[in-house]
Amino acid sequence: MKVALSVNDFLRRGVTVFPDRLALVDEPNVPGSLGRITYRSFDSRVKNMAKRLEEMGVQIGDRVAIISPNAGKFLVSYFGVSGYGRILVPVNYRLTKEEVAYIIEHSGSQVVLVDHEFAHLAEGLDVKKVIVLDGVSDAELFQELPDGESPPSEWDPDEDFTCSINYTSGTTSRPKGVQLTHRNVWTNATTLALHTSVTDRDVLIHTLPMFHCNGWGMPYAVTGLGGTHVIQRKIDGESILSRVDAEGVTLACGAPAVWAATLNAADERARNGQKVPGRDEVRVVVAGAPPPSKMIERIETELGWEFIQIYGLTETSPLLTVNRAPKEWGDLKASERAKLLSRAGTPAIGVEIKIDADGEVLARSNHVFAGYWNQPKETEEALRDGWFHTGDGGYFRDGYLTIEDRKKDVIITGGENVSSIEVEDAIFQHKAVAEVAVIGVPSEKWGEEVKALVVLKEGESATEEEIIAFCKSQIAGYKCPKSVEFRKELSRTATGKLQKYKLRAPYWEGLEKKVN
Ligand code: AMP
Repeated sequence: MKVALSVNDFLRRGVTVFPDRLALVDEPNVPGSLGRITYRSFDSRVKNMAKRLEEMGVQIGDRVAIISPNAGKFLVSYFGVSGYGRILVPVNYRLTKEEVAYIIEHSGSQVVLVDHEFAHLAEGLDVKKVIVLDGVSDAELFQELPDGESPPSEWDPDEDFTCSINYTSGTTSRPKGVQLTHRNVWTNATTLALHTSVTDRDVLIHTLPMFHCNGWGMPYAVTGLGGTHVIQRKIDGESILSRVDAEGVTLACGAPAVWAATLNAADERARNGQKVPGRDEVRVVVAGAPPPSKMIERIETELGWEFIQIYGLTETSPLLTVNRAPKEWGDLKASERAKLLSRAGTPAIGVEIKIDADGEVLARSNHVFAGYWNQPKETEEALRDGWFHTGDGGYFRDGYLTIEDRKKDVIITGGENVSSIEVEDAIFQHKAVAEVAVIGVPSEKWGEEVKALVVLKEGESATEEEIIAFCKSQIAGYKCPKSVEFRKELSRTATGKLQKYKLRAPYWEGLEKKVN
């Protein structure tokens, strides 16, 4: 028997098993916050949303965009839109108006839901309807299905149908719309849940943007198992800690930057003699960039939270590899354990990975996307020869994948390959360093030479010589920067990734080739 997989499977189970359980703790003090609601209420709002969209004339296959920080209504939309055969287009609210307009137009979204604080981003869009999420204009859309009203028309699921189109931040040109199918989303969510041991006791704090690859699929898994969702609208370390405490959070996903902020807040608490919550109770799932091993060590020792690294891309829904300490690492010193955990990990169940002759990581799995929306050439290129081409450079050792670099970021100096990530990891261990980017710049002598751009922590100081000497105490001399420049900030994409090509550009100006 083959039964179509769809996101409906998750909510159906959550509400059937736990109708009276707390499903969602929305961010308080936001206009129109859904507050604390049960699975029954959550399910009723999902049905109501589908009904109202149907009344607006939104057909099966039509796109509905949402531009919003994390919100309870986002969670409702994952199911109220996709669960009824409409396609959700989550848009990064940190983009400019022009970038948003491109995505809305390119995806052909007809209805746009926009958070009240970002309403300006949707002004002047050529769409059927813009609904501001302010608790007034959207009150009908997010209410429970009124008593006595008939439910929305069911959608007969097709697992190969597009569930969402997630635009990737694209460090080079226009973003591309990653089409994730119900099958992609389903297999990713269940595999992720298996590797991170999600149960009905979990309380997930949404510290990962919900627009980013649908929160890596964790929201579906937690819903299916009947866990509780705690919505975190803004990344603020102290606010995260206090909600971990107040809501009994056990699970969180996020990029390294989120945990840097949380560690700073924990530091502050420790200085004031305050408790840091969640010891031996919280698991954090980290990806998006390679976390420095020092950060991993601090998460495990100072917070006492379990660190799990995953690696993947929006195109892979995202799960490709997992690194979670096996029992064999239990007796290792914290720093040794952290070093082992700093690798991307081993392929998740159902994922095949190989490295091609150029060192590029290739992947095959049921989580790999269907294609880029309306971009067949780019799709073909990314999926050529039956493998998804990640654009990341990596290698396997002892069964573990290490992401060495974005392929374009490899620095070749004096004929030797240097991983900028490795150098960044080393420099990041210096106590005065808040942020670091390592780039290759042209050099007469070496072809390219390593340069570090460093942002110092407030109130800290360090000289160029000190940073270089410190780096040399960590890794091979040839990998260490020949020069260090101190900056106030580093250029990042809207999702927080370093824009290496931008940082590098001034040094390569006027040269025909961008590598030496
Ligand atoms: P995105 O599609 O925006 O989620 O970005 C995916 C990219 O983030 C990958 O191609 C990697 O370059 C990077 N990335 C994600 N997870 C990791 C990780 N654990 N280690 C290193 N890089 C990562």
